[in-house]
Amino acid sequence: MFSTRCKLLLDWYGEHGRDLPWRQTHDPYRIWVSEIMLQQTQVKTVLPRYPGWFDQFPDIRSLADASLDDVLKRWEGLGYYRRARLMHQTSRQIVSVHDGKFPAAFDAIMALPGIGRSTAGAIDSFCFAANTPVLDGNVKRVLKRWHGKLNLADKALWQLAQQGIDTSGQPANWNQAMMELGATVCAAKSADCNACPVQTYCASAFQVDYSAESRRSAPARHVHWQVQIHRCPQKGIWLRQRPASGIWAGLWTPPIIELEGAPDSAPAHIHQLTHRRIHLYPLLTDATPAGAGRWVRCIESYALPTGIHRLFEKTDFKLR
Ligand code: SF4
Repeated sequence: MFSTRCKLLLDWYGEHGRDLPWRQTHDPYRIWVSEIMLQQTQVKTVLPRYPGWFDQFPDIRSLADASLDDVLKRWEGLGYYRRARLMHQTSRQIVSVHDGKFPAAFDAIMALPGIGRSTAGAIDSFCFAANTPVLDGNVKRVLKRWHGKLNLADKALWQLAQQGIDTSGQPANWNQAMMELGATVCAAKSADCNACPVQTYCASAFQVDYSAESRRSAPARHVHWQVQIHRCPQKGIWLRQRPASGIWAGLWTPPIIELEGAPDSAPAHIHQLTHRRIHLYPLLTDATPAGAGRWVRCIESYALPTGIHRLFEKTDFKLR
């Protein structure tokens, strides 16, 4: 019975799977980069940035040799910069421990910084044909709906994911198909059960309880930040590098003060993170800045968070 479901899903993927650049390669470096980029960023955001990464860092050694600032700058627009820092660290570990060659063994992949079980499963199945399942947010949702059990814990989900890939006979395509189904047909806010290849076998077909699912996710926390924009016609704008941990770690921003609560004025920009909404209030000033930082005339040379870029655009802030 399960093998019939596998065939339906694999056939559907063969016909409807999107033609994405990381599906055209078995190179573990390129797969790894795509998996990390796609962890918390949408496909449409990754697509225009994916080729440029390899223009600048064509292989693991070139990434390991690069400065962290260059890596963060190249990551601009993808968000969650911790991923870029870990990739930089990982590339150096691969060079020092594996002589610059991406390891093929699952345990060795898992031992690399920033690579969890699901990402290791993707790399090992796509590049080395291993029966190692992917269990990202999309696959979890599909499995829960498919089996009609919203409360399934990760341990049970891993077992179901392993059972599926073991039966499929095509580990790479199986993982791709499960992710594709969750990304396109069995989506978080709309399940198109009419178009679903496993509709006949799904316990939730045509009766997905979206409200029950959304009740399970924690509400976003609101924070209010004053962004102090010091300008000087001759010197540019004052930027400082944020601490190595926390939101926007290691990126460059104007000095930021966290406010106790929402001020009377409306924010100029609201930046959405997974569990936070950052309300940004610019304060333009010609005062001399205090504390660490530097005057910057050309911000294009620095890695700035997308939220700060949007704030500058919305306030029509002129740097030069
Ligand atoms: S039938 Fe509907 S709920 Fe079930 S897996 Fe397919 S799209 Fe998702």
